[in-house]
Amino acid sequence: MKLSLRQKSNLSLGVMLSSIPIVWLSAAIDWPVGFGLGFVPLIIGGILGMRWMRCPHCGRPLYARGFRPFCSECGKEIDYDAK
Ligand SMILES: [Zn+2]
Repeated sequence: MKLSLRQKSNLSLGVMLSSIPIVWLSAAIDWPVGFGLGFVPLIIGGILGMRWMRCPHCGRPLYARGFRPFCSECGKEIDYDAK
């Protein structure tokens, strides 16, 4: 399965956001184990995002810099929809 940079970004963000209902529910029912587990997808999503969001030309990390059309390191154009 090949994913474009945009899809990888959405996927990692989706994984991170999935921790919110887990943490919220665990807090609501006073379940400390679930509360702790709720942070796991947050960390996994963050790691995935950092691993995936790299410039296809020079490999520098792009994450948390938004969808810039050009790499701030090497200046080459980045195609976020390329697979
Ligand atoms: Zn680059």
